[in-house]
Amino acid sequence: MSKKTIYIAGLGLIGGSLALGIKRDHPDYEILGYNRSDYSRNIALERGIVDRATGDFKEFAPLADVIILAVPIKQTMAYLKELADLDLKDNVIITDAGSTKREIVEAAERYLTGKNVQFVGSHPMAGSHKSGAIAADVTLFENAYYIFTPTSLTKETTIPELKDILSGLKSRYVEIDAAEHDRVTSQISHFPHLLASGLMEQAADYAQAHEMTNHFAAGGFRDMTRIAESEPGMWASILMTNGPAVLDRIEDFKKRLDHVADLIKAEDESAIWEFFDNGRKKRKEMEIHKKGGVESAFDIFVDVPDREDVILSIMELLRGTSLVNIRINEENREDIHGILQITFKNEKDRKHARTVIEANTDYHVVIA
Ligand code: NAD
Repeated sequence: MSKKTIYIAGLGLIGGSLALGIKRDHPDYEILGYNRSDYSRNIALERGIVDRATGDFKEFAPLADVIILAVPIKQTMAYLKELADLDLKDNVIITDAGSTKREIVEAAERYLTGKNVQFVGSHPMAGSHKSGAIAADVTLFENAYYIFTPTSLTKETTIPELKDILSGLKSRYVEIDAAEHDRVTSQISHFPHLLASGLMEQAADYAQAHEMTNHFAAGGFRDMTRIAESEPGMWASILMTNGPAVLDRIEDFKKRLDHVADLIKAEDESAIWEFFDNGRKKRKEMEIHKKGGVESAFDIFVDVPDREDVILSIMELLRGTSLVNIRINEENREDIHGILQITFKNEKDRKHARTVIEANTDYHVVIA
C-alpha cells in the first residue's frame, strides 16, 4: 500500500502504543502527533513514537490520511465536532480508541454525516495501570482484541484498510455493533471494576473495627481487587457513557446476591455447593482459560522452595521468552497453586516455560 500520513491525537499510553504498532509494520508512514501537554509530546518525539508533534489539535488534521483520536471519551466527542469544521483530505479515515463506543459512534454520525469522511469506532482492548507516552509499548495490543464498531460512515473498504495500517499491533480484529460492545464490556469490564472498588471500600471500612482485616487479606482478595488500582478519571468517564448497561448489571447482581443470602439463611448446603460448583465450571469453560481473553494473561504457577537462588535459576531457564510479569505470592500458600506466578505474553512461551522448568527442576508447575 502507498505511503500514508497518520495523525494521532493524544500521545498517552494508548495513542503512543498505537503509533509504535503502526510504525512496526509501516516504517515509511509519517506519524504526526498532537498532545495537550508538552511532557508527553516531548517524550513521544524523543522516543521516536511520532515524527512530528504539535500542541494545536487542528494543525495536522488536514494533512492526514487517517486520524486516530486517543484522548478521553468526552474529549473524543468534542474533537469529532471540531473535525467537522476542518478542511480534511477527501475520504480521510477517522477512528478513536475510547473504552465505550455507543456515545462516540452517535457523536461521529451527528457531526460528520454529509462530509467526505469515513468513520469507524475502535476499541483496542488492552491497557495497564500506567499512562502517558512514557508507558507506550509496541507489544501492548499483541493477542488482544481490537474491536471495530461500524457506523453509517463506514465503507466496505474502511475496516480492511485500517486492519492493514494496524497490522503491526498483532491484535485479533473483531467487528461488533457499538451498543452491543457497550453491553458486553459492562458485564466483563465495567461492572467488575466497580465491584472491585466497592469491595476495597467495604474492606477498608471493616478494617477500622477489625484490625486484622488488612493482615489477613491475601491471594483471593488481592486477585479480586487488583483492578481497583485503575485510573479513576477513565473509569468515571466509562460509567458516565455506559450508565444504562452498567445499571442493568448492578440490578442483576443484586438479585444474585439476594439469592445466595436466601440459600445461606435456609442452610441449603447442597444448593450452595451447586452455586460454587457452577462458578468453577463456568470459569473453566470461559475463554480466559483458552486464549488469555482481554488481558492476554498466560500464567503459570510454580511451587518453589523458599531459597534465595530459586527465582534467579528459573529466570535463567526462561531467557528469551516474552515474560510480562512475575509475582512472588508469599503471604498465604493455602489458596493459591504455587508461590511463584509468572505471566507470559502468549501460549507458546507459557508452554515452553512449563517444559523447561519441568525438565530442569523438580518443582511442581500448574497452569491455572
Ligand atoms: P493516558 O492518560 O495515557 O493518555 C490520555 C491522553 O489524552 C494524553 O495524551 C492526554 O494529554 C490527553 N488528554 C487528556 N485530557 C485531554 C483533554 N481534555 N484535551 C486534550 N487532550 C487530553 O490515557 P490512555 O490510557 O491512553 O486513554 C486514552 C483513551 O483510550 C481513552 O479514551 C480510554 O478510554 C481509551 N482506552 C484506555 C485503555 C486503558 O486501559 N488505559 C484501554 C483501551 C482504551
